[in-house]
Amino acid sequence: MGAVNAADLLIRKSGIHGSGCYTTVPIAEGTHIVEYTGRRLSKEQADELYNERADTYLFCIGEGDYVIDGDSVAAFINHCCEPNCETDEFDERIWIIAQRDIAAGEELTYDYNLYDGDDDDEAPCRCGARQCRGSMYGEEELERRAEDKTGKNGKRGNRSGG
Ligand SMILES: [Zn+2]
Repeated sequence: MGAVNAADLLIRKSGIHGSGCYTTVPIAEGTHIVEYTGRRLSKEQADELYNERADTYLFCIGEGDYVIDGDSVAAFINHCCEPNCETDEFDERIWIIAQRDIAAGEELTYDYNLYDGDDDDEAPCRCGARQCRGSMYGEEELERRAEDKTGKNGKRGNRSGG
């Protein structure tokens, strides 16, 4: 499956958000690019640790029983609604996998599909993709949140513009 040499991945300022992860070499579709390594925490531990931090996205595994507190370049990969990578789990290890052929110099992205966020956290997405959902939440989570809102104040969120 041939992972990409870590030296071929570069962290630098991203056009999407903060820092991003770029490849300096072409990557073929299906390549296992890099493992999402890091400390494994239970959800309770993570909540306690990151209570005060607004901008934390941990990698949830399985049914969300535990999370990975990323410590490799994989943790810098940004969300995009039209990503060039996907993630998959093999023997409880998370890999970032090329979803298509990726050219040298491209920023690596995958769809975070966030769920279970704070109600006041909109997790806005500025990936700029044509199919952008406007949020890093997954489709199901967005539907759930829209329903919550409808229940609360009786109108649908139908905002135009930012
Ligand atoms: Zn987007």
